[in-house]
Amino acid sequence: MVWIQVWADTNEFLRSEKIQSVSYRLQKNGQNDDWIEIVAHPMDKVILGICTNAGKIPSIEQDQKAWQKLVNTRAHLVIEEVIRVISDSDQRAKVVSLKDLVIPDFEYEAPGKLDIEIWVWNIPCQNCHKETPVVYPVGAFFGYMLEFNFLSNLPRLLAEKYPFFKKWSAKGKDGEEYRNTCTHCGEPQPDWRVMESYLDLSNNPEIVKEKSRLTVTLTEEEKAEYKKAGINSSW
Ligand SMILES: [Zn+2]
Repeated sequence: MVWIQVWADTNEFLRSEKIQSVSYRLQKNGQNDDWIEIVAHPMDKVILGICTNAGKIPSIEQDQKAWQKLVNTRAHLVIEEVIRVISDSDQRAKVVSLKDLVIPDFEYEAPGKLDIEIWVWNIPCQNCHKETPVVYPVGAFFGYMLEFNFLSNLPRLLAEKYPFFKKWSAKGKDGEEYRNTCTHCGEPQPDWRVMESYLDLSNNPEIVKEKSRLTVTLTEEEKAEYKKAGINSSW
């Protein structure tokens, strides 16, 4: 048998063979949104609290789904580890604290490509005030909101598909950045206006004219960052 330490009370232990199942839930009153607790049944005791490194819960419903999926995937990885430790015969007659033994490795998730949802809708141009389409990537990348220049291959793909999304060199600034530009007067729309309008879409989802998907290849650097993000979220 293995004695499993209870999370909230280090002097309380559960006998592993009495545990019939384990489940997870988001930590109540957790300091961060992405902490989960692993609960042993039928005694209903928390045996582990752990961070999924998914970041804060996004405010947009669409992003929340991606966030929930990430937390769910990682929670199941943690549960697999917990079950492995609990049923490990080498641990027989030992007293174990799961926080020392369950060190999940989220690295396996690093993909070569990302499938990203793209939304198109109209906003009034900030220069001529006529309605002009804007395009924006939806969803979260490891708990971080996506932005145009977040993935280096994304702006070029967007520009190929949406001609109004194009390179623009700002006066007095080095280099060029891709921007949504007005289809009437050609003026670039500042990212913050597009972002603000995007955040407002949750109140008016019917405004979205087009939803499509793009597959973006990650650069080697991004893959490395992606892996790192699984361990510490320091983008
Ligand atoms: Zn305009």
